[in-house]
Amino acid sequence: MLESKTLTVQEEGELCYITIPAFEKTGLVRHCFTTRLGGVSPEPYGMNLGISGADAPENVRRNYERIAYAIGSFPGNLVVSAQVHGTEILRVGVLDRGKGVVFPREMEAIDGLITDRSQVGLVTIHADCVPLFFLDPRRKAIGLAHAGWRGTVGKIGAKMIRRMQEDFGSDPADLLTAIGPSIGPCCFEVGEDVAQQFESVFMDQRAELIRPAKSSGKFYVDLWEANRQTMLSEGVLPEHITVTDLCTACHSDVFHSHRKTKSPGRMAAILELI
Ligand SMILES: [Zn+2]
Repeated sequence: MLESKTLTVQEEGELCYITIPAFEKTGLVRHCFTTRLGGVSPEPYGMNLGISGADAPENVRRNYERIAYAIGSFPGNLVVSAQVHGTEILRVGVLDRGKGVVFPREMEAIDGLITDRSQVGLVTIHADCVPLFFLDPRRKAIGLAHAGWRGTVGKIGAKMIRRMQEDFGSDPADLLTAIGPSIGPCCFEVGEDVAQQFESVFMDQRAELIRPAKSSGKFYVDLWEANRQTMLSEGVLPEHITVTDLCTACHSDVFHSHRKTKSPGRMAAILELI
């Protein structure tokens, strides 16, 4: 099936999800990035964790149960962000547990979540967009962000690190971070307008991040490297950054891919302090 040099592919019966070895080693967190496999929803939804869409809410709730129990958590621990491809970050706590899963979602327009409370499971929703994971093992604090191309250009990764510094006293040199499964430089094709935005924001790295596509006026952009560069520029150590080698569009049989298959299902990144 799936093979990765940087991430671990976990299988539990028909359920399949991805974990980050550097995060696992700390023993401080439960976490995963889900695939489209192992859910109760009818195809093409499968393991669907998106709350909007035509899939029955009862199916989505049962899918959350499955993945939460598989990683040793509970649906009532989870807090689901309300993403709009922005860069707003919200600090959540024990009173937010269950919002978006067993209780209605309350927050709006939030693409990043942080907490220093245990058993508050941060959740972001994805179908090609990049999940960014943050763990401060010293201060025992975590963050999770949804970075599509807009969030990447808006440097939500940098904003997350600054918020963790302000709120938890995190030292960027302590942070473990990960760039999870999402659309890779092999498949993320954009027009000139988007390529230009990357060029203006990532001036010094533009040669590494942007390359012309076969069709004229189109470019491939490397969202993984762009987010890695953002983390490095904030003081995260290169050896503390895990970068996915799994492209959700290349592996659209395993992942929901908005671009490749127009899959209506959504995957979740989950991160929770034990
Ligand atoms: Zn690809």
